[in-house]
Amino acid sequence: MFNIFFCGSRKKKRIAITFDDGPSKETEKVLDFLKKYDAKATFFIWGERIKGREKTIERIKKEGYEFGNHTFSHKRMWFKSRKFMIEDIQKCDDELNKFGIKTNLFRFPGFKFGLNSLIVCWKLKKKMIFANMVSNDWLNPWLKMKYNKKEPVKIDKPIKKTLSKTKNGSILNFHDYLEGIGNHEEIIPIMEKILPKLKEKGFEFVTISDLLFESAK
Ligand SMILES: [Zn+2]
Repeated sequence: MFNIFFCGSRKKKRIAITFDDGPSKETEKVLDFLKKYDAKATFFIWGERIKGREKTIERIKKEGYEFGNHTFSHKRMWFKSRKFMIEDIQKCDDELNKFGIKTNLFRFPGFKFGLNSLIVCWKLKKKMIFANMVSNDWLNPWLKMKYNKKEPVKIDKPIKKTLSKTKNGSILNFHDYLEGIGNHEEIIPIMEKILPKLKEKGFEFVTISDLLFESAK
């Protein structure tokens, strides 16, 4: 009944990199970086953040990446009314529609959901995209902010985790913006350590739709 996805087929050496919470200043750098590796990816867009960053949305579209809906407000959905959830998801769709973008891919903010939100997604015919390789790339920037640390943010943990846990069909979760923190300045240094190694291992970087639904075509 519910269209819930955590990973793709284990048979092919393909993986889907996803970025949540953009667009942001960092998104442009992420796009430059992905291009170098001929890597496709999927961007789960925080609708409210589009205003003033329309050019970034245009660029993601033009360069052939995929979009997903990550709600308009990015509010966690487990205790919200169905009415709020429907409006919040549709508002993000409306913003994307302005660019001619239609997507049935959806990701819950913070991966938080309840029964009502599952029903809402079913009603709106959304495919709920989770990830079986959650890098937690937000954690160290968040700890630095919370404890007012002076030293640079450590990036070894998300790198190690990604390199050891990525398997055929994995959906990888990263961020091109960090809620409550701001620009994710470590995302490129993290990507620089991850992408070449995964490529070396023979993985192909595809969009969510290619990973999950291509074989069904
Ligand atoms: Zn998010």
